[in-house]
Amino acid sequence: MATTNVKAYGAAAPDADLKQIDIVRREVTAKDIEIDILYCGVCHSDLHTARNDWGGTVYPAVPGHEIVGKVTKVGNEVTKLKVGDYAAVGCLVDSCRTCSSCRQDLEQFCLGGMVGTYNGKDKHLGTQTFGGYSEKVIVNEHFVLKVPANLDLAATAPLLCAGITTWSPLRHWKVGKGSKVAVVGLGGLGHMAIKLAHALGAEVTLFSRTPGKEKDALELGADAVVISTDENQIKAVAGKFDLIIDTVPSVHDINPYVGTLTINGTLVLVGYLGGLEPILNTVPLILGRKSVAGSLIGGIAETQEMLDFCGEHNIVSEIEIIKIQDINEAYERMLKSDVHYRFVIDMASLKN
Ligand code: NAP
Ligand code: ZN
Repeated sequence: MATTNVKAYGAAAPDADLKQIDIVRREVTAKDIEIDILYCGVCHSDLHTARNDWGGTVYPAVPGHEIVGKVTKVGNEVTKLKVGDYAAVGCLVDSCRTCSSCRQDLEQFCLGGMVGTYNGKDKHLGTQTFGGYSEKVIVNEHFVLKVPANLDLAATAPLLCAGITTWSPLRHWKVGKGSKVAVVGLGGLGHMAIKLAHALGAEVTLFSRTPGKEKDALELGADAVVISTDENQIKAVAGKFDLIIDTVPSVHDINPYVGTLTINGTLVLVGYLGGLEPILNTVPLILGRKSVAGSLIGGIAETQEMLDFCGEHNIVSEIEIIKIQDINEAYERMLKSDVHYRFVIDMASLKN
């Protein structure tokens, strides 16, 4: 298959800094779109993957799944976009398209295995997939999204992961006017959860460990802030929430949050992957028909729905633009929760 060399930024090992490397990408095939990457958001999952926090990272690893760019080439069967259009790519670049999940527009749960934008298994080249910290990307048109014309391009990039990951549970659990939603953690996902839940008409509360984020949370659309380390503040919201979206990236005690769910309420974990500690107490679940659930990004149709909603409501991410050369420092700041509220890489810096 015809391939081309592309400049990228990647990690060679779990403890290695990211630096400039060359990667191989396929040339466009009939249904492919080639995108010159303008901006790429920095998700905590990028850091987890670069440092092999979840195991299974294949090196070199090129992260990045919040991609916005311009179409530079299309295959001869492409109908979705044309050369010169703006385009976006999120966390998925392939799936079987025929299983029951794919047929329900739930490509993220493809029974044949969805292909992640990075560290996935590239069905064309047989290598790992390489993400958006690169000059360009070639993706089947089904997995390419349209960008609403009125939105700032750089600030749109984080919608492709942080946006859809929080939109999907808000929609699945039918959040709307009158819903009471809480968000745990004010980072990339958390700040999008607040904006989207607020725009859907919900009353929104932020649980944060970090005093000092209250003013920002209220400006983002939260109605209240609860400092999660203060037992009295948690007790004051007992039995209140219909839905809690928990974005915390590491192991933590979810029992106090379960106590703040209403009867039939759901706590959905989108951040931490793995065993919970301390153990989850089932008593409040059983006595209140409460649920603890998980959710993974969202399907392609749902991602387009979220982008269109953001276009209509003028919603984008709060961003700090960085150069690709600053990515290692950005990861260190992310580990200290010092992000307001998403880093976005100006990919022109890779061309310098
Ligand atoms: P982020 O920007 O680093 O934000 C995480 C926030 O969680 C922090 O700002 C902090 O908020 C809070 N936090 C951090 N460490 C904590 C700890 N030890 N205990 C309690 N709270 C803590 O990260 P992100 O990009 O939003 O990603 C969050 C997680 O979601 C990551 O694990 C990422 O891999 C995962 N993710 C999942 C999906 C999915 O499909 N399910 C998609 C994308 C990302 P406060 O300072 O306010 O407490
Ligand atoms: Zn992500």
